[in-house]
Amino acid sequence: MFFIVWGFKGRPSETAVGRFYCPDCGDHRNYRKMTVKRWFTLYWIPLFQTSTLGDYIECKTCKATYSEQVLNFDPITSQQKFEAAFAVAAKRVMFKMALADGDIDAAEVAQIAQAFGNIVKRGVDPADIEAELEAAHEDTRSITDYLAEVSAGLNDTGKELVLRSAIAVAKADGVVDPSEEIELHALAVALDFPTAYANGVFAEEGIAMIKRRAA
Ligand SMILES: [Zn+2]
Repeated sequence: MFFIVWGFKGRPSETAVGRFYCPDCGDHRNYRKMTVKRWFTLYWIPLFQTSTLGDYIECKTCKATYSEQVLNFDPITSQQKFEAAFAVAAKRVMFKMALADGDIDAAEVAQIAQAFGNIVKRGVDPADIEAELEAAHEDTRSITDYLAEVSAGLNDTGKELVLRSAIAVAKADGVVDPSEEIELHALAVALDFPTAYANGVFAEEGIAMIKRRAA
């Protein structure tokens, strides 16, 4: 008996290079512009591309990814900070997960702020967290729908950080139960995260791995 296994996969490729001001590094760096194309796959082998999913700018030093507007970012005149794509996605996912089981209390907000600080490796502005909580409330998309939309702007490093953020929230109440494991697996799929890479993260975090589809 044969099963035909087919699907789609986003594959980034370098389409431009240059110099820019990287907000995460806080200095001028080399970047590469990546264009993500959707590929049709058969037995996990990409055969042909079908459409363009999006572009992102990747810092060659810290590997953070940004929307293309970062190329116009002027650190001297801009009062606003320009956040890396993974940081935006990580915050949204953490709050949406916490909101999924009801209202969030101050202790949970503090927990998320701390988990986020650990992931982005810098201090977190409480006003920024407040604003994000409000935005997460208003965002009616499911977490997987949200991630499927933003995944084209993330490289594997960014996807790993978003996944680790979600794991941090799942672990916050002490145990990761089977339904949370299923949700985390769904997030990895929505992120279009390579299964082997995602499983490496799950193994490290003590979470059940995604089972390979039988061919
Ligand atoms: Zn950088």
